[in-house]
Amino acid sequence: MDRIIQAKDYAQREGARSVVERIARLSAQMVRRRLLDTPFVGGAPAGTPVLAEVGDGQWRARCECGGLEAVDVDEPIFYCFNCGNFKTKGRPRAVVFPPREMMEEIERLLLDRPMIEAGGTNEIDRMLMKLPALAGMVDGAPVVMRRSWKHDETVDDLRRQNGMMEALEKAGPTPDPSPNERASFGEGNTQKEGE
Ligand SMILES: [Zn+2]
Repeated sequence: MDRIIQAKDYAQREGARSVVERIARLSAQMVRRRLLDTPFVGGAPAGTPVLAEVGDGQWRARCECGGLEAVDVDEPIFYCFNCGNFKTKGRPRAVVFPPREMMEEIERLLLDRPMIEAGGTNEIDRMLMKLPALAGMVDGAPVVMRRSWKHDETVDDLRRQNGMMEALEKAGPTPDPSPNERASFGEGNTQKEGE
């Protein structure tokens, strides 16, 4: 089934019963390898909350250090494996999601964007490796219809972006959005160059 991935999907794939258990396991592995000074300690969230966004088909949040982690609305905690939540000494940070209704609408609009299968050896990877099927020029600017949403975008913004799909379809097939080309558009969402 076509859907937007959350952290619980990784937990299930790895046989963990919850997102917390998955984080604790990964943290313990890093501690055993002496790579982590601030292991995940669980408990109530501490520090500044992080904001959920959708990036290329999955709910995720970004740490100030640059780390990106998958997040989950049913267990809205954040532990960054790039810095070990150093600032909160391993305590989880809270994740702020949009209200449920808005979340569902965001997912629905993003899933309307057609994608091209591009490999992957399991359901999650197949979902995340898909490439945007629609990319091209709209009003003289390059647009890529990615399954991404930033927290400062409204549902109407996504709807407006989806309104470009017809023009892109009419323009006909564009060159395959290769992984490199895709990367050059950065993290954003149907970004126009120079924005
Ligand atoms: Zn971090």
